[in-house]
Amino acid sequence: MAVKDLGPLQMCLGGEWVGASNGATQTVVNPATEEVIATVPSASAADVDGAVAAARQALDGAWSRMSARDRGRLVWKIGQQLMTRADEVARLETLHNGKPIFESRQIDIPSAAECFEYYAGWADKIQGETIPVKGPYFAYTLREPVGVVAAIVPWNFPLLLAVWKVAPALVCGNTVVLKPASQTPLTALALAEIALEVGLPPGVLNVITGRGSEVGRLIVEHSGVDKIGFTGDTSTGREIMRGSAATVKRLTLELGGKSPNIVFADADLDAAVRGATTGIFYGKGEVCAAGSRLLVERSIKDEFLARLAARAKKIRPGDPLDPKTRLGAISSKGQLDRVLHYIETAQREGGTLIAGGQRADIGTGKGYFVEPTVFADVTPEMTIAREEVFGPVLAAIEFADVEEAIARANQSDYGLAAAVWTRDIKKAHQVAHRLQAGTVWINAYNVYDTAAPFGGYKQSGFGREMGQHALDSYTQVKTVMVDLS
Ligand code: NDP
Repeated sequence: MAVKDLGPLQMCLGGEWVGASNGATQTVVNPATEEVIATVPSASAADVDGAVAAARQALDGAWSRMSARDRGRLVWKIGQQLMTRADEVARLETLHNGKPIFESRQIDIPSAAECFEYYAGWADKIQGETIPVKGPYFAYTLREPVGVVAAIVPWNFPLLLAVWKVAPALVCGNTVVLKPASQTPLTALALAEIALEVGLPPGVLNVITGRGSEVGRLIVEHSGVDKIGFTGDTSTGREIMRGSAATVKRLTLELGGKSPNIVFADADLDAAVRGATTGIFYGKGEVCAAGSRLLVERSIKDEFLARLAARAKKIRPGDPLDPKTRLGAISSKGQLDRVLHYIETAQREGGTLIAGGQRADIGTGKGYFVEPTVFADVTPEMTIAREEVFGPVLAAIEFADVEEAIARANQSDYGLAAAVWTRDIKKAHQVAHRLQAGTVWINAYNVYDTAAPFGGYKQSGFGREMGQHALDSYTQVKTVMVDLS
């Protein structure tokens, strides 16, 4: 099992395992059983100072003296060791998040390991340029680390979303203070263990636990933090922008979404039904890019929705630790209440429930489970069409033609992802180009790759994670001019 076998846990600051300086703790609950499974420190302001100081010391010390290639080797080893311990880390991910062990073991942990491996390859390829300037001057650029990076991450993909920030930050030569969500700190602590096991110098990766409203806020305002990589709610993103303004921190914000999944009448309907299903029910719908707005062409709407509802009704929530389970527990009681509230609101506002709609019981009388839920007859004005539910709840909206599909798809404050289903290759690309979204899938949904950038348009945030583009967020460019006269 490990992460110290879930005894009272400690944070990893400067390579040392410590409790909160004031002794405060907070509990971690398994959402599938409602039982407390661990206790972690609830860090104080002094601990935040300690974490940032440790990261700064490491930045100025061993880490900056290490060659880029050696940094890459260490980052590679983290990915390798993560896979060596994949069964155990996957189990922790499932215990605190409620996601099926199938997903943790087959997707989250291998993707996190792959992210380390991918960025390890970049370590010695981050280079400047020479620039032809006027006059007898030689000009070149250096790409230097930003400094101390704070990674503040949510509970839906606790390890993976941390690694999307930690891996590129490290290969660019930064040091990191990672703050996991209060609900899901276990795999971040496991990551700190792994980093120390493979020889990452103390202080290069610090993991601090505690409430976002206190510890997170202090990190955001801290003058010793140079950059924040954040994934979470749009309202929290706005707070982080305000809180970091005084110290003019660099920010990357990956925020919410209400992503449109557009099905045209000429699509491969079998594939589109499968795509619409995984688009909303994968990860219990607690996915920032979830295809939560299904836009269906009017001429196929009835047939399509009947098939989709039949498929949704076959997916039963189950024990997340059972390898056969494909829909796990909603991550917390608060999130369960929020999802049920949105279901009730959709019914009150005139949506037609065609699948699910209830809290589910897996036979234990415990746990935060919700049936896969589909609403038909949703109009763009309804709450369920506009706000992020972050649960297994789909809103189906009809459209008449391409123009209306695009207009409705773009009728959102968000712009994280979108998908188009059609056999017409021209239409597919034309629509993709006109969608206001950071990622557009054609005849696919929820396909991610470490090499492909991911991030938002509009209020879904800015900056890109993954791929080469993420390196821009974790480096700053210095121009050097030399007089050759
Ligand atoms: P938050 O945005 O509040 O949490 C994300 C992270 O930010 C957590 O580590 C949290 O810590 C931390 N945090 C919270 N407040 C602050 C602050 N003022 N300053 C710095 N850090 C802070 O998301 P919630 O957990 O509250 O979820 C609410 C809703 O957000 C969900 O229902 C969903 O709609 C959306 N969401 C979107 C995600 C996405 O991937 N786009 C991911 C998660 C949620 P702590 O956990 O200790 O509060």
